Amino acid sequence: MQIFKTIAEMQTWCREQKRQGQTIGLVPTMGYLHAGHLALARAARSQCDTVVVSIFVNPIQFGVGEDFEDYPRDLEKDSQLLADAGVDALFAPSIREMYPPGYNSYVEVTGEITGKLCGRSRPGHFRGVTTVVSKLFNICLPDLAFFGQKDAQQVMIIEKMAKELNFPLQIVRVPIVREADGLAMSSRNVYLNPEQRKQALVLSQSLQQAQELIRAGERDAGKVKQLMCTTINSSPEANIDYAEIYDADDLADVDEIQGRVLLALAVRIGTTRLIDNLIVEVQ
Ligand code: AMP
Repeated sequence: MQIFKTIAEMQTWCREQKRQGQTIGLVPTMGYLHAGHLALARAARSQCDTVVVSIFVNPIQFGVGEDFEDYPRDLEKDSQLLADAGVDALFAPSIREMYPPGYNSYVEVTGEITGKLCGRSRPGHFRGVTTVVSKLFNICLPDLAFFGQKDAQQVMIIEKMAKELNFPLQIVRVPIVREADGLAMSSRNVYLNPEQRKQALVLSQSLQQAQELIRAGERDAGKVKQLMCTTINSSPEANIDYAEIYDADDLADVDEIQGRVLLALAVRIGTTRLIDNLIVEVQ
């Protein structure tokens, strides 16, 4: 596996791949890789000739007081995992390489899709995400770009951005990879102590219970949200940031559950903010 640290070298290599007629699959990550990230790399491996994974802890998507400084990093271990997964190239630029002094260009998706959920809790977060992803698209020239359903709002926003800004590529969604007990895999799970790790199960459990309630015929979104909150609040260290139900295609408000709905959670367990979600379809 080749490792590139500069934009010029990465872009030149990708251009050469394309000149040779290879399709490129890009998997953007912030590193500290787990089985969720590797599922994206595997999907890319099976659908593209050349697979590029990027590792960049993007400072502009973190707000003041968030965990940018503490975010876990282990480039050496990540490189080994990616090489073992058959990835062709790793792009791991420095902050200065991506945002040199005087940097002033940003990409922003506005409207309902960015104004809710994490967009409301983390102002500026998605502007940071869409900016770095746009840069990665221009640097790595992917035909396909792979994103996890774990970050449901993020992939919706990136799909909208790619469509509206006419990026010549396709976005591929990869399902959430979970631990055996249901906890969605996340680089941030490493922050949890053993007791918090147990309590973190309320996220996936509340989503499952909500799904069962909907399958049993409940159509009142308020009542389903109430159940999710009650389950989460049974965990002493849990603090709900949001527990919401929106239309799964455009995040429109939902009062009566019908069609495809997104059940979305952000919960602090101690000081660790975790997110999880589930799409439920009602005939
Ligand atoms: P991150 O490194 O957390 O920014 O994530 C990089 C990519 O991996 C994003 O597209 C995430 O949605 C995806 N991802 C993270 N965790 C999971 C998971 N448990 N299952 C599937 N995809 C994931």
